[in-house]
Amino acid sequence: MGRAQCSVTVQPTSTHSDSANSANSAKRASGIAELRELLAGGRVFALTGAGVSTDSGIPDYRDEHGTWKGREPIQYRDFVASDAVRRRYWARSMLGFPLMASATPIAAHYAIAELSARGALSLLVTQNVDGLHHRAGCRDDSVVDLHGRLDQVRCLGCGALTDRAALQCELLARNPDFARASAVVKPDGDAELSDVDYQRFEIAACAACGGILKPHVVFFGENVPVERVKRSMAALEQAKLLLIAGTSLMVFSGFRFARAAARFGVPIAIVNRGVTRADELSVLKIEGNVGAILSEAAR
Ligand SMILES: [Zn+2]
Repeated sequence: MGRAQCSVTVQPTSTHSDSANSANSAKRASGIAELRELLAGGRVFALTGAGVSTDSGIPDYRDEHGTWKGREPIQYRDFVASDAVRRRYWARSMLGFPLMASATPIAAHYAIAELSARGALSLLVTQNVDGLHHRAGCRDDSVVDLHGRLDQVRCLGCGALTDRAALQCELLARNPDFARASAVVKPDGDAELSDVDYQRFEIAACAACGGILKPHVVFFGENVPVERVKRSMAALEQAKLLLIAGTSLMVFSGFRFARAAARFGVPIAIVNRGVTRADELSVLKIEGNVGAILSEAAR
């Protein structure tokens, strides 16, 4: 067919895969070197998601293709409208909370805290509600908890913000039977219970006004408070780099920052296990263990 014939030496499979592996590790090393250089430029706006916390024992929402793993989560309107939904929520939360409360920061949190201590971060915006960036040493005023924090509770009546750990004691005291139920813990401090009559669960009301208590996190169907978005966008506009770590950006509240960075002309670097919605917008993408990669790049 007009093509010059040539002799091809077929490599044994093992040699082929060894050379593929060494090509991959060379690619990874050059990616990490490039990321280190980008981070050294300072004014980094970091955006993190569940993938930075999974090694802490906190379940991830989505697999590496960005597909939701469990059943659909609770909707804000259902929580507000239905006493039955609230009983079910707090029963599951009571069993899921201890795991969230005892989770400790891991390599990814410490690498980001290191960047923060060095003055390289302009702002850290996290989609996680576990508070682990704070526990790793990031200053509270340098972190925007985009979706809120599970260690706090807000009253929908008077707006009072209280400690989730204190509410935990009250829920356990009111519901000793539930406290003994076995549960499989799910994302966001939720838990899967089997053969349980949620309507027997006694929920607690606001001590100040008797209002409905809601975890201080943004539920599905609820907007992220506008002040959090405004502050984040202002910092992003001035940033030299958008670092996206451990998130597939399937939720728009996170993806909007990638779109805005593209609009502002801020380059995007991504560290994630699996695809993200912003892959095509990025100048650098490194796939793999987020903690290991960030620790190396932040050195
Ligand atoms: Zn209240």
